[in-house]
Amino acid sequence: MTAPRVEMACQTCLAPLNTLGVPPAYVHPTHLATDGHEPVPVPVSQLDTVRRSCDFCGDPYPIWTLHGGDVTAIAIGPTTGLVQGFGHSWAACATCHTHIDEGRNAKLIDRAVQALGLANHPPARQRIEELHQAFLNSRLPGRTLITTTAWPATTITATGLPKVRDRLTRFYRGTDNLPAALGIDDARQQIATGLERSHLYWIDNDFTDLAEHAAAQLPGVHISRDLIPSADGMLIWPRPVTHRQLTAASWTDTIDGWEMVLYRSIGAGLDGKPLQRLREQIGWLAPMSAARLPEQHLIAGDHPAAALVATWLLIAQQTAEVTTAGVDKTVAKTYARTNRLVPEVRIVRIRGRRTIPGPDGEPKPGSQGRSQNSRFWVSGHWRNQAHGPGRSLRRPVYIHPFLRGPDDAPIRLSTTVRMLNSRQTKPQDHK
Ligand SMILES: [Zn+2]
Ligand SMILES: [Zn+2]
Repeated sequence: MTAPRVEMACQTCLAPLNTLGVPPAYVHPTHLATDGHEPVPVPVSQLDTVRRSCDFCGDPYPIWTLHGGDVTAIAIGPTTGLVQGFGHSWAACATCHTHIDEGRNAKLIDRAVQALGLANHPPARQRIEELHQAFLNSRLPGRTLITTTAWPATTITATGLPKVRDRLTRFYRGTDNLPAALGIDDARQQIATGLERSHLYWIDNDFTDLAEHAAAQLPGVHISRDLIPSADGMLIWPRPVTHRQLTAASWTDTIDGWEMVLYRSIGAGLDGKPLQRLREQIGWLAPMSAARLPEQHLIAGDHPAAALVATWLLIAQQTAEVTTAGVDKTVAKTYARTNRLVPEVRIVRIRGRRTIPGPDGEPKPGSQGRSQNSRFWVSGHWRNQAHGPGRSLRRPVYIHPFLRGPDDAPIRLSTTVRMLNSRQTKPQDHK
């Protein structure tokens, strides 16, 4: 069993696949419990999310790919099956990476044998050590960020946003590699410069709900300068949005359109030194996908950036109330020390929510009807509206979205009440 040349993963369960036999067939790793489905091999470069695990200890949140000697499969112990061959690239979690960088080989192996349930099996420990050493002794310099790991959500606050931006900028300027599949190696400096000029947008919870609902119905939209809230920008949703689980987006003005990058949050669940190092070396965000969007490029509803475009449109159509927030004292000091203008964070909320009348002219949402204990979305629909010089252009405008229920009540995320027509409301599961 050897690692495949083009790394493949199963489209159904997102697990990396091994090859078996001649000609090679793709198989699920032997340690993986599946529901019995046949593997559906696709190149990992086509997937936003891959269920890799740390090749040293099995941790489900690997963060770096390390490059080194080509170590092939090794079988250990009668009861433990097989530690698979990993080829010349190994995935490392933040904790193993810390041990490796600090040369604590014993800790690295302790962690692996404990994870494999081999703590009381000295021969196995020795074999694992040999395996690690074979790889590490021929390790090449450099490391590549793993951007496909599905981390639990990290909450990024509005006041923390400048620091999040600065770390990301530093990462783009640094020497750590990004996966070639992202296709932004040549644009890193440009994106970093764009981030420094960025307007920073922090979308509040309600506006995020609205944008996510609207994104799900987004019609095709042509990208144009007037729908983008600033030439360069960075935007944070306070929770992951859409099935892609996006946390942030950045866009950079270029001579031929915008360089757009979508991000996931990383590092949740870590603590201590591994977390500290991850925040210093990478930050809070990892790019998941990127695209160069020329002016008038058509974004279809299923485009990875649909949530970003829906958010832009909702801001452009004055659904948003944008206020600015101060930043952390420490962030402000850091900026002052380096003679940089203290950044502003623009908080995006739904405009005038309290006074939007209901469909029957009800003066106040929630004053009667379905629920007094929770709020729920009555979602609207997109309609093309004329705008621009001589009203010659068309762009989608989201009509009549609003929240029903008391202002201080929690929002029921699981339910959408969709206005199918003017007389009928129909509860519909959203997730
Ligand atoms: Zn599978
Ligand atoms: Zn590990």
